[in-house]
Amino acid sequence: MSLVVQKYGGTSVGSLDHIRNVAGHVERTVKAGHHVLVTISAMGEQTDELLAMALALNAKPPRRELDMLLTAGERISAALLAITLAERGVKALSLTGSQCGILTDETHGNARIHKILGDRVRLGLDAGNVIIVAGFQGVSPRTKEITTLGRGGSDLSAVALAASLGASGCQLYKDVPGVLTADPRVVAGARVLPEISWGAMCTLAWAGASVLQPRSAHIASKYNIPFEIRSSVELDRPGTLVRGNEAVETPRIVAFAHKTQTSLISVRVGAKGGGSQSSFIIGKALSWLWEHGESPLLSSQQSPERGVTELTLVLKSALVDDFVKTLAGSDPAADAAVALTRRQDGLATITMVGEGFQQSPETVQRVCETLDGAALVIDARNTAITVCVNENEVKERLSDLHREFLAEH
Ligand code: ADP
Ligand code: ASP
Ligand code: MG
Repeated sequence: MSLVVQKYGGTSVGSLDHIRNVAGHVERTVKAGHHVLVTISAMGEQTDELLAMALALNAKPPRRELDMLLTAGERISAALLAITLAERGVKALSLTGSQCGILTDETHGNARIHKILGDRVRLGLDAGNVIIVAGFQGVSPRTKEITTLGRGGSDLSAVALAASLGASGCQLYKDVPGVLTADPRVVAGARVLPEISWGAMCTLAWAGASVLQPRSAHIASKYNIPFEIRSSVELDRPGTLVRGNEAVETPRIVAFAHKTQTSLISVRVGAKGGGSQSSFIIGKALSWLWEHGESPLLSSQQSPERGVTELTLVLKSALVDDFVKTLAGSDPAADAAVALTRRQDGLATITMVGEGFQQSPETVQRVCETLDGAALVIDARNTAITVCVNENEVKERLSDLHREFLAEH
């Protein structure tokens, strides 16, 4: 029998009625003759609510305890769905990430999956159960601690489980009808894409399109897992199929992503040990950013002054202070001198995602013309052109770019 993996996000399980609705859809899939594995998120905004409680009690909560707290949200919704299915006479078993054998490294808050054992999942499925996995969590076999896979990590749980179990289908149900050409909350004319490549989806997600956790598209591409993003309101409506890679030479514009609450900073890093020492410090800083789920726009250059490196980054404003402290504290023995030489808050990034921009300088030119001088930073690569603008202009600028490049004629 074929295995279908279905992931239901927070909105899809936001109330008991929503959970009943999901149970109905799972039951229909079982009746259509499939084994079903569900990955589920916490109900509604529960993760944010739990996080707010922790922060009200301690401004810097221990990351281990945060993982203990936040994983509880997914356990609640998983058990509630199993209870609802049982009431309908559908055999179901809820499992935590650790019970499924989702083994990760020990990075609390943004752990990487190393291996999925999956024995209990297979046994449960063979016994005719719907398996419901609490999303966004695993366990580190080294520390024996519960870990989380980064915000939005239930997407990753679903795609990784689909890859590991050889599922024939993988559907992620969201509060949008699929992947759109821009965030529909910001751009009124955004349209659903019937299909998008893994590569473009990856770039879009890293650039801020919160419709998918970025690491999920990486895994899908690595293990050749096609998956769909569909509406949790109209469960049977086709959404966006994410699969394959592009092989086009002409430039193609697929969609826009944006990030708000970002800052442009410049940092001067000098170390007694010279260039190699400052590279070491920068390496540490980048690892710290990764642990905090951030992949910033970054440029680094050696200053003519020996042993001094200048870094310019665009990153989440909330991380700036801790980032600078981390740089300064990365190697006290080396006497690192870290100075924040520029900080501009209240910015946003807009990324145009596509293919073949390197062969098309006129595309970059058109972006600049459309923005009419509003871009503070421009970063142009083959698959993405990113600009940094003032946050209070982001809606207008994004809509202008969308109209210029992706409006339906
Ligand atoms: P989940 O239910 O899995 O948690 P999310 O709420 O995280 O799903 O993701 C859906 C949200 O992503 C939408 O509410 C939408 O505002 C946002 N979004 C951002 N960019 C896009 C895009 N290009 N296409 C669709 N949704 C997008
Ligand atoms: N509940 C977690 C979050 O809000 C994980 C998820 O929804 O995928 O980030
Ligand atoms: Mg999400």
